[in-house]
Amino acid sequence: MRNKGQQRKLKRSRRKTKKNKRVNLVIKELKVVSCIICDVENDSKSIEHIVSESLGNKKYLMNKDEVCDKCNSRFSKFEDKAISNTILGFARTVNGITTKKGKISSGKIKELIFKGQNATTPGLIEIKGGKNFLRYNKKNKSFELVVPSFDKNEISLSKLLLKMGIESLFKSKNHVYMDYDFDNLKKYLQNKTNDDWGFIMTQEKIGKFYDIPTKTMQKHLNKLGITMEYQNKDANTLLFRFRYMRSHVFIINLLSRDLNWTIEYKKIIPNLEVQPVHLNKKVGLTKDNNLNVAGVEA
Ligand SMILES: [Zn+2]
Repeated sequence: MRNKGQQRKLKRSRRKTKKNKRVNLVIKELKVVSCIICDVENDSKSIEHIVSESLGNKKYLMNKDEVCDKCNSRFSKFEDKAISNTILGFARTVNGITTKKGKISSGKIKELIFKGQNATTPGLIEIKGGKNFLRYNKKNKSFELVVPSFDKNEISLSKLLLKMGIESLFKSKNHVYMDYDFDNLKKYLQNKTNDDWGFIMTQEKIGKFYDIPTKTMQKHLNKLGITMEYQNKDANTLLFRFRYMRSHVFIINLLSRDLNWTIEYKKIIPNLEVQPVHLNKKVGLTKDNNLNVAGVEA
């Protein structure tokens, strides 16, 4: 038979074990991370670059497990098209940015084929594509080069922009991320829907946009002429603005396909087009010169 002292000791030690167990459980729960795109708990092997490595980003990364391997490999399918076959790829090659594997970059947009020549000489590139050269001047051997923005791959670029938008907010502006429901975007990035998701390209800024990356990270991104900003307009509209190599600027709504927000841009830039261009039918000028969005009065 145990005496009272021993019994008390035993109780205390049992209580201790219970307490320890609870603490361990809590720690375990904290360790489980869900993918921010598909919400599945995971243990990923890949490192997710918020801005594609192929655009020159080496440092702006998600933490391990915040994007699962499945989503990461799904991204790579549209990432390549969105970069090698759009104006982003041309900007990358002109600026001597190498590919993920450190090779000289190249690409193709419609008939225009471009290839970097030498990583140490950005700006020296080889270009092919007869239709794209205009006004050749024999005297000074100059010409104008027409660079198409896309090659029927606007969907890939929409997806790339949406991916960078949600990841950068999650990483650097978590309080903004927590305020919104990104269901539409998440479904779109998981290929559950495949309709177009329109965006515009303009350097024009209407209203105040706020920087997303931290100041330290911004220093790194500045070298690539990258800025990433957001603007919260209303419950249905959270704009993401991405600028690459200082001159290529894209704006997209991270919450829905709704294009109402483009009206004010169209008002000040008459020839502005929503991409892909067939979406402009939804956002057009009415007879009395008032902008109108697919049946919704402006
Ligand atoms: Zn996932």
